[in-house]
Amino acid sequence: MTRRTDTAKTTPVKAEDREKRAPVGDLALRGLGDLQGIVAHLAERRRLARVKTEADSYLELAGIARRFHGGKAVYFEKVKGRAFPVFTGLYWNRGLLAEVFAVPEGRLPFLVADAVAQWQQSPLHPVGVADAPSQEVVEKRVDLGRLPIPQAGLEEGGPYLTSSVVIAKDPDTGVRNASIMRFMVTGRDRLTCLMDIGRHLRDYYERAEARGEPLQVTINNGVNPAVHFAAVVPGSAAPIDTDELGIAGHLLGAPLELVPGRTVDVEGVASAQFILEAEILPHVREPEGPAAEVTGYYAERADRWVARVTGVTRREDPIWHTIIPGQEVYNAVGLVAEASIFRLVSRQIPGVRAVYLSYGGCGFYHAVVQLEKTSEGLQRNAILATFGAFPPLKQVTVVDEDVDIYDPRDVEWAIATRLRPDRDVILIPEARGHELNPVTDGGIGCKIGLDATAPPPVPQFQRLAFKQVNVADYEIEE
Ligand code: MN
Repeated sequence: MTRRTDTAKTTPVKAEDREKRAPVGDLALRGLGDLQGIVAHLAERRRLARVKTEADSYLELAGIARRFHGGKAVYFEKVKGRAFPVFTGLYWNRGLLAEVFAVPEGRLPFLVADAVAQWQQSPLHPVGVADAPSQEVVEKRVDLGRLPIPQAGLEEGGPYLTSSVVIAKDPDTGVRNASIMRFMVTGRDRLTCLMDIGRHLRDYYERAEARGEPLQVTINNGVNPAVHFAAVVPGSAAPIDTDELGIAGHLLGAPLELVPGRTVDVEGVASAQFILEAEILPHVREPEGPAAEVTGYYAERADRWVARVTGVTRREDPIWHTIIPGQEVYNAVGLVAEASIFRLVSRQIPGVRAVYLSYGGCGFYHAVVQLEKTSEGLQRNAILATFGAFPPLKQVTVVDEDVDIYDPRDVEWAIATRLRPDRDVILIPEARGHELNPVTDGGIGCKIGLDATAPPPVPQFQRLAFKQVNVADYEIEE
């Protein structure tokens, strides 16, 4: 393997600067640079369920996985008619991610935010390598039917790739982009996909299509969560002229390694499980959907973009990675959104402690903001700033610092005992929201702000508290 030399090494660095420059994460240094390491780590910590009975990738696998939803991650050892195991659930419980990143759960969004900030200041760029685990085996013939790609939802149009990271290069500048989108399998070497408007990948594709050219991509399955989070960092934090894959290095503790594609002029992730090399065809549209969406509904079937798979490479013993619709998607995207909302809002409002996009709000529509109110009225400004920071939001609830924003019961308690509906509910009609939310009119809808903070300190809002004890110190029979 070849590594680019770090020229900064030749300049003496003060100890405190070195401390500042140390990457915020260290996954690669702890043997968690790939899915094999992560699966083993979760198993060791008793956070993994192993399904030993053979499961069908058509509906059955997701049905089993769903029974563990929000709990342990799930590893399917045997998939009917397929040679490879399947892993899911890594993102559906923040406790699992906290175990992997070795930080408390509440620290997770800040870890991602810190990695993004550090990357913006002094990026650890990805490095090229010639040999990669993800190319240990080059499939002689492309046949997506051999892969254990699940169909999860009963009414979905086919098997879906839900968690694969797509890498492409800007057709004009060559700058790399990483993103996640859904792909439905429609043939031995054919996929249909959704390219959201406003995304960098869509921009790349439209410029290639205007020249009558396909857009070459690698579709990387089974990547490290560091790579996953890098790919979902929004364009506001990683503009179109930057390569957001660099962010992964700040979570891994080492530059991300990339390997050249065999049939496309785009790199793939060296530590991935599988790489599908493909080209998104110009001027071709074919049916895609229905698809399970973040809203908990099916996205409609329609003619959408088509990718032709030109090559498949993999590890010798790869694990197919999938995300089951639901809480997994909320964390996979929500954590990064929370981090960017927190950064933007705390720039304007002093005292913001944390932001959470709740599961009940699809990890996308409902934000809870924890605020240490230094002066009355700031909580209302925080509501406005939060809506401004993340337009898909429909509801923002602001609570005091004594409320656990990760516990929906505690948030409801604050609403029950501190919010006066005639005074503390703010409605913003006809505002731009998220068009996938079916209660909007094509994205236009009403937003609601809930001020559930206590009025200025008066005794009746002092919360009941108990002595902290260690239960292990007491002899108790249950
Ligand atoms: Mn980008």
